[in-house]
Amino acid sequence: QTHFLSLSLQAKMSRPVQARRLEGIDKNIWVEFVKLAATYATVNLGQGFPDFPPPDFLKEAFVRALSGENHMLHQYTRAFGHPPLVKILAQFFGKLLGRDLDPMTNVMVTVGAYQALFCCFQAFVDEGDEVIIIEPFFDCYEPMVKMAGGMPVFVPLRPKAPKDGKLMSSADWQLDPAELASKFSERTKAIVLNSPNNPLGKVFSRGELELIADLCEKHDILCISDEVYEWLVYDGKEHIRIASLRGMWDRTVMIGSAGKTFSATGWKVGWTVGPNRLLQHLRTVHQNSVYHCATIAQEAVAQGFQREIELYGKPDSYFVQLPKELQQKRDWLVQSLDAVGMKPIIPEGTYFLVADISEFKSDVPDVPDSDEPYDSRFAKWMVKNKGLAAIPLSAFCCGAHKNNYNHFIRFCFAKEEATLKAANNILQKWKREKTSP
Ligand code: PMP
Repeated sequence: QTHFLSLSLQAKMSRPVQARRLEGIDKNIWVEFVKLAATYATVNLGQGFPDFPPPDFLKEAFVRALSGENHMLHQYTRAFGHPPLVKILAQFFGKLLGRDLDPMTNVMVTVGAYQALFCCFQAFVDEGDEVIIIEPFFDCYEPMVKMAGGMPVFVPLRPKAPKDGKLMSSADWQLDPAELASKFSERTKAIVLNSPNNPLGKVFSRGELELIADLCEKHDILCISDEVYEWLVYDGKEHIRIASLRGMWDRTVMIGSAGKTFSATGWKVGWTVGPNRLLQHLRTVHQNSVYHCATIAQEAVAQGFQREIELYGKPDSYFVQLPKELQQKRDWLVQSLDAVGMKPIIPEGTYFLVADISEFKSDVPDVPDSDEPYDSRFAKWMVKNKGLAAIPLSAFCCGAHKNNYNHFIRFCFAKEEATLKAANNILQKWKREKTSP
């Protein structure tokens, strides 16, 4: 026993163990909100994942890969991407971009889009480099830039009130061209573009993309283009790939995700598409960190794309059907929220919707001078008292700007009809309680 005791005493270290690059990024709101949802939520519209299954053709492809004759699918495959997957991705995106892509040098497979982002920041950002991030933003961009030694520089999308008391659209959130231009400097290395944007659902217009592209060219900087929601656009809107604009291919890395594309977020298959002069550096990071992604999942995703390339643009294509179904779900949630006075901002894309909670301040009073943004306290109160989970919009803003966006919460509507009905019931009951004394 004394032996064990002395060992445990010896094991205690007094010097700091964490690397400096972790300073200031060790807190993450997802840990807290995922736990709150697991503890209290009866209806979880918080974290972004579908509660419906991926399409049968994809599940069947996985099962075939798992139990088929080719037992080599249980072993390592090519580090930079399983050959059938990089081949079909090169063919598919080559067609969309109107250029010949080499599967071996213009495509790299990653562990979800998350690892693709990580590779980009590690590969391109040096100490002191600035990276422009459009706010509100998918929250991991900021810590990933910092971990690489870079400095995030934020530029906000600013809301314009719609006319005639109409509901706001994500298109009403716009960049101020002069403000955007003012963020570019000699230290700028890259801009992160996320269209369709999480959390607002904004789909950047051609004009907005051209503005960004012109600045990228003028200042000779890279564009990290996170397009994981590329198929989830509504009302006939078009997703435009910035890499297809003049001068942009050479300086853009396009990022995609089978998680979002095929409603299978747990598979964690993502990819990057771009010129070899950029991708060669992503391969260096990938080789020296993750090295390899699950073979069977890559094989199944390759077959999913094989099907989709044959059905491209046809009514049976999953890339046609999924947005159709999601648009209907979006409209249900818009109606539910609007009916109770939680004003929705109608998203043009993604499976998220941001709503204004100003009218609910009587339920959850503001605490002046609190360190915690109002929307964060509201979302915690809502999950604990109403069983409905959502994410505060301030989670998608940098520390200094959290209070600029503190009366909105984000809902995910990639959910079964029953889940959305249950959310509607909670909201309706809440509204009745508010109006009856
Ligand atoms: N980018 C954005 C904008 C996202 O919303 C997400 C997932 N929420 C990711 C990247 C990460 O995707 P994956 O699950 O494929 O890693």
